[in-house]
Amino acid sequence: MEFGVGRSGLGVRRCPTLVSLNTRSLQLFRTAQQRIPGGVNSPVRAFRHVGADPFFVERGQGAKIWDIDGNEYIDYVGSWGPAILGHAPKVIVDAVREAAARGISFGIPNPLEVEMAELICTWMPSIEKVRMVNSGTEATMSCIRLARGFTGRDKIIKFDGCYHGHVDALLVKSGSGALTHGRPDSAGVPQGFVNLTISLPFNRVDLLRQTFRQNKNEIAAVILEPIPANAGLYFPSDTFLPTLREECDKHGAMLIFDEVMTGFRVARGGAQEIYGIKPDLTALGKIIGGGLPVGAFGGRAEIMNQLSPDGPIYQAGTLSGNPLAMAAGLAQLHELERTDGWKLLEELGVRFETVVRDGVTKAKIDITFHRIGSMFCLFFAPGPIVDLASAQRSNLKMFAKFFRHHNLRPALFQQRIHRKTSSGRALSCAKYCPVQRGRARRPLPKTLRRRGAWTRRLPL
Ligand code: PLP
Repeated sequence: MEFGVGRSGLGVRRCPTLVSLNTRSLQLFRTAQQRIPGGVNSPVRAFRHVGADPFFVERGQGAKIWDIDGNEYIDYVGSWGPAILGHAPKVIVDAVREAAARGISFGIPNPLEVEMAELICTWMPSIEKVRMVNSGTEATMSCIRLARGFTGRDKIIKFDGCYHGHVDALLVKSGSGALTHGRPDSAGVPQGFVNLTISLPFNRVDLLRQTFRQNKNEIAAVILEPIPANAGLYFPSDTFLPTLREECDKHGAMLIFDEVMTGFRVARGGAQEIYGIKPDLTALGKIIGGGLPVGAFGGRAEIMNQLSPDGPIYQAGTLSGNPLAMAAGLAQLHELERTDGWKLLEELGVRFETVVRDGVTKAKIDITFHRIGSMFCLFFAPGPIVDLASAQRSNLKMFAKFFRHHNLRPALFQQRIHRKTSSGRALSCAKYCPVQRGRARRPLPKTLRRRGAWTRRLPL
């Protein structure tokens, strides 16, 4: 869930907000940079292209996090998706503690894996069989191999701005950090791999049909985020997903939904439930691990049966189905169901949207606001925004100012609404919006300040 229309050449000044005020964070970041590339274990955490340095989190509880300098924040990142119940929810902490006491990893089947598989297949009926892995990247990578092995074809179609993890074949015009850091195609990916990947603009059924025609019997799979959320957040047109399904059927290609972000988040059955489309394969991650490292991929039994040890397509993992991750994920999913979390998040989302739209109208600046459930996005550009090209119209200078004012992450535009904070007032339009306690704030950009749009904390 990491936006990336930013470019490092944005010309943004270094931002003193986090750098000079988070002394311990700054010191630790300097040390980190000596030992960890860029000082971070995933590029979007580096704050780089908005000219800031990251802060280090000490702890989180519910909707809030605290950094090592004692600053308190409302967290709109939610670990980029997994923390849908907020931080350190008791149900998950208890489940992990109990599971850990029984043994942390076995490399031998454990009952929780079966419970998780049953749950995933029940909630997402397109999945008849599922295999657990350790990250979303592994899940999409395995889907691609499976589709290629099953069809005996090599080429795949993806869509500009969709991010599917750092899989070689999928780092082509992808979103998230790959885009934010100005390198859509990573060094180290052999040209030969990329030549087998065709990236098309999202929502263009004409180009999709044409590509299938031009590559007859060569396309193994079409992979997409059914609701793209790694280059902002935009939506499929009414005809797009049905056409994809139709074309894949017509040409014998696999339709792969990457629901690593949307799975069990936008609805109990993910985006495929909302749009009523059954993919052949689905990649999952984030929420199903309750914050522990996890991924999963699954689909039609006929396809999944091709995996080793039943079939010829190899896939494996030392820690796959790890009991801690299974326990955490199951606890999270059961809690979401018990509390009808999706309904609650939608209700909060509607209220949030109302306030934001009101602010946007009053501000009289070009902002497009997109939301589905707990996911939302602000583009500093007029609509319609339907693909990567239109998302890239967003005014990045304004975004950078907005970021610095609110201490946002560089990969903004892809945020979450979470459940009420303990104090009952939670929604702010910022992602990492500090709950101010004697902390100097940078002034709001003039345009925004004049209109008074973004200064208010939004009451719930
Ligand atoms: N697919 C989507 C849609 C994602 O948003 C992400 C990560 O943000 C991935 C795949 C990769 O998942 P991971 O970071 O767990 O490898």
